[in-house]
Amino acid sequence: TTQLPRPDQTRIFVVANQKGGVGKTTTAVNVAAALAQKGLRILVVDLDPQGNASTALDIAHTEGTPGVYEALVEDVPLSELVRPAPQLPGITVLPATIDLAGAEIELVSLVARETRLKKALAAHLEERERADDRIDYVVIDCPPSLGLLTVNALVAAREVLIPIQCEYYALEGLGQLVRNIELVRAHLNQDLEITTILLTMYDARTRLSAGVAEQVRSHFGPKVLATAIPRSVRISEAPSYQQSVLTYDPGSSGALSYLEAAREIAQSGTSDPTTSERGA
Ligand code: ADP
Ligand code: MG
Repeated sequence: TTQLPRPDQTRIFVVANQKGGVGKTTTAVNVAAALAQKGLRILVVDLDPQGNASTALDIAHTEGTPGVYEALVEDVPLSELVRPAPQLPGITVLPATIDLAGAEIELVSLVARETRLKKALAAHLEERERADDRIDYVVIDCPPSLGLLTVNALVAAREVLIPIQCEYYALEGLGQLVRNIELVRAHLNQDLEITTILLTMYDARTRLSAGVAEQVRSHFGPKVLATAIPRSVRISEAPSYQQSVLTYDPGSSGALSYLEAAREIAQSGTSDPTTSERGA
């Protein structure tokens, strides 16, 4: 299999959509798994107290397990918290536990509450780079809300990946997400940009899916990946075996589509600062 090119600097993606159940976690896990399978080095940050990404990557995250809560609230360095994904060489994971549910409130009273993840991540990336162990991609999985955890992710990232479920009301709420991203960009992170839209749970047999896809493509243009992720039982089964679909059923349409989406992402390369301003 052909390997994918390494980006010239670490690309930091936040997978965001304040709606639950649209495929954020599935996308974070499987894009990370696909990139890793192609020889790249990935850090997955699980920022959802439910810890679904940690589960799918086979990382322990029972209550009290040190993870992203300790990084955000107690300033514990990431190097003491990240764990290698047992089945996916190249992936390390910053796990989330249910303790993180309290962080949304505890963060409110902390100094620099919006930039805590950014600082922790920057220190870790630098440390890994110095150790000749550079991370190519950081993929941050968000909870289904626009609270302080998601704001921390939007401040830490450079690129937003929005999964959109090909269902009724798919576009509802997207305006609010886009406005929040613009607010973060104006006040907290001028480098932030929506670079990638991924259509998920696409059902080629229905006019509904085709209609949603058409609407999303006419609104977001070339940011929408050509690959749409099909609705697939194999994709939804994989996490209950603590697996990505790439390891659970490598030949399935779900696995192949996530590989293809990852290839598109890798080939889109780093965004060129001279052309990415888009009328800011
Ligand atoms: P979110 O993180 O946005 O809440 P998830 O990734 O957890 O969404 O997905 C919601 C549910 O849909 C999960 O049960 C997941 O297994 C399932 N799912 C996600 N993508 C697909 C797909 N392409 N085909 C079938 N089921 C999917
Ligand atoms: Mg999720």
